[in-house]
Amino acid sequence: MTIGALKNYRRIVVKIGSALLVDRSHGLKQAWLAGLGADIAALQAQGVEVLVVSSGAVALGRTVLGLPAGTLKLEESQAAAAAGQIALAKAYADVLGAHNIMAGQVLLTLSDTEERRRYLNARATIETLLKLKAVPVINENDTVATNEIRYGDNDRLAARVATMIGADLLILLSDIDGLYTAPPHKDPNARFLAVVEAITPEIEAMAGAAASELSRGGMKTKLDAGKIANAAGTAMIITSGTRANPLAAIDRGERFSLFKASHAPVSAWKIWISGHLDAAGQLVIDDGALKALKSGKSLLPAGVREVHGNFQRGDTVAILNMQGREVARGLAGYDAADAVRIAGHKSSEIEEILGYFARSSMVHANDLVIRGAYRQNEDVFEGEHA
Ligand code: GLU
Repeated sequence: MTIGALKNYRRIVVKIGSALLVDRSHGLKQAWLAGLGADIAALQAQGVEVLVVSSGAVALGRTVLGLPAGTLKLEESQAAAAAGQIALAKAYADVLGAHNIMAGQVLLTLSDTEERRRYLNARATIETLLKLKAVPVINENDTVATNEIRYGDNDRLAARVATMIGADLLILLSDIDGLYTAPPHKDPNARFLAVVEAITPEIEAMAGAAASELSRGGMKTKLDAGKIANAAGTAMIITSGTRANPLAAIDRGERFSLFKASHAPVSAWKIWISGHLDAAGQLVIDDGALKALKSGKSLLPAGVREVHGNFQRGDTVAILNMQGREVARGLAGYDAADAVRIAGHKSSEIEEILGYFARSSMVHANDLVIRGAYRQNEDVFEGEHA
């Protein structure tokens, strides 16, 4: 990426971590936020649509409500989110308003992105805000989201939003300046990675090694976000947001890691499938089946070695290779109980085994997305045999 390149993007989602926005003792970092507002206004003036996914509701609400430091009970953190979100939304409305830009608050729960109809509805709202030149300011609806049904981290939420509206760039601003091959504070040989072509298993292995940060998502959730984004054609930048004017800093050439988007064309339907956060089950497939998937074929029962989980037909399942790595994701053609019975069998035997015939494939090619690293780079898969 060259100096001043952000204006070449059409739609940018900027994710802002809590630590950048909120100071435990002084509350909101007004000056920093004003700088971000000026950066957004400058991009908008150049024709770039900008969306913000902002954390900070819980952190800010603690200060607002005077809650003690330390772990909060679930109800307390939900109350903190309620109080903090009002203050957060007002702060964005103010800093953007100073540039005559409207802000529109969007609070999402996990099911708003995982259920197809609600996903389309959320997308329509966000698209309309963009059409009206407003900046969507998005967060998880923490006040009602409970542990089992929440994103929990805004990295993956931001990636899901970015793919939902077809953004071409996702910027994760946090207190980490990018990805290193090893912990930089411990390993003098740690190398900074300025460009990541694809999030391979080797890259993922580096995630545990990155410096940690204050807010919820660490490097692992950032790479998870990258996988969701990159597979859907969205590039991702991880950089430190601690500088004043953090977006202008990227354009000035300050340090960041760029994760390139996969260029394989992916339909909106497949983007929705591949971005699902939790798979309801797993299918372990043999090498022959994986070859077939890579050439665009459906997953047939014959190539399925193991079935795990308690999924229903239509649920998202992860497809794993014999080494246990997720190579694809798709919608199950059969319930788990039936999938177990037909796994390893020819499609012509399905009717005899189940007493009915519904479809010849376990996962149809139209409902299946191969993970970027396996799609683009044959060596990644072949290399795993070594
Ligand atoms: N939604 C949370 C908040 O606004 C933040 C989640 C995160 O830090 O990723 O407080």
